[in-house]
Amino acid sequence: MSLIGSLQHKVKRKVATYQGLGARLHATLDWMTVNCEPYTSSTTLRHLGFLSAIPVPTSMYNYLLRLGEGLLSTSLGLGSIRTPLVTSMKNSIVPVAYAMCAAMCLSAACQSPTPFSLRDLGSGAWAAIDKSAAKPDLAGSNTGFVIGPEAVLVVDTFESSAAAQKMMEAIREKTTLPVRYVVNTHYHLDHVAGNEVFAKSGATVMAQDNVRSWMRTENLKFFGEKITPKQREWVDDLYLPDLTYTQGATAYIGINRGEVLRVMPGHTGGDTIIYDAQANVVFCGDLFWNRALPNLIDASTKEWVETLNLLLRDYPSAKFVPGHGENVGDESDIRAFRDYLVFLRQAVSQAQTHGASSADVLKAVLPQVSERYGKWAFFDFAGPSIQQTDEELRHLKKLPQQPLK
Ligand SMILES: [Zn+2]
Repeated sequence: MSLIGSLQHKVKRKVATYQGLGARLHATLDWMTVNCEPYTSSTTLRHLGFLSAIPVPTSMYNYLLRLGEGLLSTSLGLGSIRTPLVTSMKNSIVPVAYAMCAAMCLSAACQSPTPFSLRDLGSGAWAAIDKSAAKPDLAGSNTGFVIGPEAVLVVDTFESSAAAQKMMEAIREKTTLPVRYVVNTHYHLDHVAGNEVFAKSGATVMAQDNVRSWMRTENLKFFGEKITPKQREWVDDLYLPDLTYTQGATAYIGINRGEVLRVMPGHTGGDTIIYDAQANVVFCGDLFWNRALPNLIDASTKEWVETLNLLLRDYPSAKFVPGHGENVGDESDIRAFRDYLVFLRQAVSQAQTHGASSADVLKAVLPQVSERYGKWAFFDFAGPSIQQTDEELRHLKKLPQQPLK
């Protein structure tokens, strides 16, 4: 057997061996994906045809690529010279190196962390609460799901495929029914980045019209002017909704189990809440932040206050799952959140009188917000929120434009 033939034989044998580790290896790869930074869903080993569903962090991929090439170069006595031969062989070597590294992590996989905790809301409804609610992580937001008699509906998909994969596993521990629908409550990255995980399993991803239009455009702004090619690629690769609606829809997960998708203004201009009557639960997306300062970058606070009043009127005894915040809320929490927005609008409006500049407004309002809401999560949003509300009340705020039809 030639040198290359022998090498190919070894590679095949090793791949088979490591593939044989099956579920444990998959769990390890999940652990690596959750814990290795920086994460990007666009870089995967998919094109190598190995463990096709498992995304890996860019840094890990590049490391393995170098390791694989190094191993091959050494074996062939080529030193560090990159040749077409080496390049062509890396497709075989890299998966082996990857599997070897994965195997080394097997013990760590036993403690594989899940970036969210599940809360049972009754009647098949579950909230998945971000474990680092005050500091975005791989979950990055709260999500949830409802198990009906025939199928499952998922609300939002976190800010990474790794976290979404964990949610899929959590669902699989509770039911074998298919995930029929995913609803994106709005376009922000931290709520849609795992769509592909569920779409691949056959789910239809649904959202308001604007979500599909804005997902790959408006999300770029969160990276600022120094956006890297990888970050741009990540946004470019986001899985878009398959089905959109203007005002709302009802998604059935059983003959008598219709999930009400209702479009309400406030956070972005393309927000949907999902109401499950049986469990009496409203999944609010980012229309509700529980004891947390909200991101107002795309907000229309006047409409948002009206939306919160409608939620209180129409679902007075419901449980409300927030987009951010550590706990599922009730009507008192919705009131507290509404009162924050009302307070902010009033404080900014008062500070604007007598020709105050935006800097004056910030200086006047920030201590007031700190005094009343200093203990809420995401206090970093206080300054930007004052400036954004100042712009909104001066009619200078730029909001995402609704696409022409
Ligand atoms: Zn949001």
